[in-house]
Amino acid sequence: MHTPVTIVGAGLGGLVLARVLHVHGIPATVYEAEASPTARSQGGMLDIHADSGQPALEAAGLTAGFRALVLEGREATRILDRDGNVLFDEPDDGTGTRPEVQRGELRRLLIESLPDGTVRWGHKVAGVRSLGEGRHEVAFADGTTVAIGLLVGADGAWSRVRPLLSDATPEYTGSSYVETYLFDGDTRHPAAAKAVGGGALMALAPGQGILAHRESGGTLHTYVALTRPREWFAAIDFTDAAAATARIAREFDGWAPELTALITDSDTAPVLRTLNTLPVGHRWDRVPGVTLVGDAAHLAPPNGEGANLAMQDGAELATALATHPGDAEAALAEYEQAMFPRAARAAADGGELYELMFGDDAPHGMVAMFTGAG
Ligand SMILES: Cc1cc2nc3c(=O)[nH]c(=O)nc-3n(C[C@H](O)[C@H](O)[C@H](O)COP(=O)(O)OP(=O)(O)OC[C@H]3O[C@@H](n4cnc5c(N)ncnc54)[C@H](O)[C@@H]3O)c2cc1C
Repeated sequence: MHTPVTIVGAGLGGLVLARVLHVHGIPATVYEAEASPTARSQGGMLDIHADSGQPALEAAGLTAGFRALVLEGREATRILDRDGNVLFDEPDDGTGTRPEVQRGELRRLLIESLPDGTVRWGHKVAGVRSLGEGRHEVAFADGTTVAIGLLVGADGAWSRVRPLLSDATPEYTGSSYVETYLFDGDTRHPAAAKAVGGGALMALAPGQGILAHRESGGTLHTYVALTRPREWFAAIDFTDAAAATARIAREFDGWAPELTALITDSDTAPVLRTLNTLPVGHRWDRVPGVTLVGDAAHLAPPNGEGANLAMQDGAELATALATHPGDAEAALAEYEQAMFPRAARAAADGGELYELMFGDDAPHGMVAMFTGAG
């Protein structure tokens, strides 16, 4: 009764989709460009939300496995100004509702929950085309092709499946992150570790900030946020780690040294993460036999929602397919009708959050939000 599902992309969205399909006995194949599960470091902590990521993992039957990955104490949040003054400090007292896990570990949990061979590693999709009547041809970078029925693009920002549905392409948000890591913070970088505290640190000013998180093993993982034109970043040679670090650090001249240490003392070369977005409210008319989940559908600037929404999309699409056996079109329509407004709302909220974090009133807007004064 159930059509096998072909998924492009083994990120959190595609993997949750495949897993929830498997729970319902629906076969799925995931084509992933990366050569193996460990081909790329998956760095970063994710807080898993009670209304999106957590129910998705529940639908995947993986709540216990997910809970075992939660890093205790990491829900602590503090907001500092550029001088290092602590304006807001909320410890993790164990009553928080947004447990933190390492993205790589969550991804591994999902991969290991799938039957062997579900994910076809090293299969970079070069393009897709419609064969009519809801069927598609997927072409891989190595020149091979497969003809398939139901197709789901879970292939992130630069989706190769999206053109079947929409002409939209991601545009630069006006801001980028530069990523650094300080390892073994408590012993090797104690002042920076103390500033970060037990969980997340936001040191904010108009147009820029330092966002750091304490990961496992005392690793201090930082995104240095800068609202600057794309050309400004293009003028920095990120292959010269020392010069790039110095250039980024210069934007934080006069900031407290325990904060700038998160840039200048990095144990890794700084990595530029350009932030792009699809239009808020991106949607499409129903096209037989194909849809999108996660960033492929609704890429937005990082606002703590993207991975959660991707997992929710995957779980809801799989559940819709399971409840409409033999009628994939009804399932896709049901999924999209709920997903479009949900994604639009999250993107709009994310825009407001960004304004609070890096707008003219920073850091006070965020403090007011956390204290309920704003
Ligand atoms: C710097 C930064 C920080 C973030 N922090 C957070 C956070 O704290 N919390 C949160 O919820 N979200 C966060 N996000 C957003 C989150 O990372 C994304 O929304 C989420 O990863 C989307 O999941 P996805 O499965 O849709 O896509 P992705 O995670 O992008 O996965 C797509 C997969 O498809 C594969 N792929 C791509 N192209 C092809 C192809 N042509 N052929 C085959 N495979 C392909 C990729 O290799 C990848 O494995 C952050 C984003 C950024 C950039």
